[in-house]
Amino acid sequence: MNPEEFRTAGHVLIDWIADFRTRLPDLPVQSDRRPGDVRAAFPESVPAVTAGIDELTSLLDSVVVPGMTHFQHPRYFGFFPSNAGLASVLGDLASSGLGGLGITWQSCPALTEVEEVVCDWMRRLVGLSSAWRGTIYDTASTGALVAMLCARERATGYGAAGKGWQGTGQGLTVYCTSHAHSSVTKAAALAGYGAAHVRFVDVDPVSFAMDPESLAKAIAQDTGAGFRPAMVVATVGTTGTTAIDPIARIAEVAGESGAWLHIDAALAGAAMLLDDYRHLWEGVEDSDSLTWNPHKWLGTALDASLFYVRDVDHLIRVMSTNPSYLRSAVDGEATQYRDWGIPLGRRFRALKLLFQLRLDGVESIKQRLRRDLAFTNLLLSLIHEASDWMVLAPVPLQTICVRHQPPGLDGEAVDAHTLRWVASINDSGRAFLTPAQLEGRWMVRVSLGSEATEWEDVEELWRIMKEAVAGALATSVVQNLDD
Ligand code: PLP
Repeated sequence: MNPEEFRTAGHVLIDWIADFRTRLPDLPVQSDRRPGDVRAAFPESVPAVTAGIDELTSLLDSVVVPGMTHFQHPRYFGFFPSNAGLASVLGDLASSGLGGLGITWQSCPALTEVEEVVCDWMRRLVGLSSAWRGTIYDTASTGALVAMLCARERATGYGAAGKGWQGTGQGLTVYCTSHAHSSVTKAAALAGYGAAHVRFVDVDPVSFAMDPESLAKAIAQDTGAGFRPAMVVATVGTTGTTAIDPIARIAEVAGESGAWLHIDAALAGAAMLLDDYRHLWEGVEDSDSLTWNPHKWLGTALDASLFYVRDVDHLIRVMSTNPSYLRSAVDGEATQYRDWGIPLGRRFRALKLLFQLRLDGVESIKQRLRRDLAFTNLLLSLIHEASDWMVLAPVPLQTICVRHQPPGLDGEAVDAHTLRWVASINDSGRAFLTPAQLEGRWMVRVSLGSEATEWEDVEELWRIMKEAVAGALATSVVQNLDD
């Protein structure tokens, strides 16, 4: 494809994307495709005849769009929001169009320095001190893994990277709660700690936040048993209930033991743009590393996960290999991001954030976050006023954990009822919610924050939820009669 052909096809595609976003509200939120349906629409081998852009946009319409659950839909209330704001989509296009490759500073000085600028802007926007230096990874899972490696190397005096696990001589332990994201256990397994060395610290029974005194006890117990506590992961906004681990006290406990403290604020980082939410990560300055995902609620198109550390020299010592073919005359003067993470070749991700920050503007982003928080509170009051609905966890951010518990139903019957009504909503395509287990029982998470959501969508969701529970109860009565 030459630039002129690109120009013509590109206009068609941009128009198609704009039309797609406009008609999203009329599409089912959840895909109704069965495994293999999408694959079956393709021939076994690449067709010999080339296609025009119109053929490809038709394919998007007929095969791809129906094969998607639409996270950009105004009635998407599942998992966590994963907004792909259109300003950042343009930044993504610019990044691919430029085709830059970050392997060294010299391979693309702009790639490195725009990333430095954007990470620093984002640092200031969430109120972190200048002691932090940041980079952009693909995901928070990568951030957890890199933090785990930093912790391992600090605990072993750089022994594990050099001599392998045999050189460490002492079992290293990791601490988080059972509400921490699964990426923490995965990172511990990948970094060689072993999943069996992850300790799930007790949580407060009401807030589901880590109990720091239980953390202190677990650390003391392990130390007494000859382990070396190396890593604590505190979550600000857990995946299940958005619980907020109390960082300030956790930092004291971690500090006393010498363990590395990593903060996972994958979702909640966005809320830190708002001054009155910063108390949620009070104590963050006493941690060692921190990750949060603009590609969730903030609205930067996947993938854009910020990772910050305070001791950048340590990070570089852990991650750097510095072979001769990558050395350059500016080493020591310029940031070499290849030494700050796992991959060598890096994309120009910073453009997505740059475009979003400059085209949308910080104020409009903050207004949208405030709007979502206000919608959450309004929906919460509707749920509180309704009978038979229970809110199961505090709501510090934009996710409400609910259960519908009519009189006469309990235990497994409530579980069956919950799964029935949420499936009926998701299968209808009218809205999308995620069921999840809390303390062994099913509940439903209503996670607001899709950029396209307006108040009427939230009202509609609430109507749909009430209809769905009535429908699920009626079905179970009919089933019981049939039995
Ligand atoms: N941490 C938390 C609290 C999350 O909720 C998630 C995903 O939802 C992650 C980490 C993992 O994020 P990623 O998909 O960027 O690896």
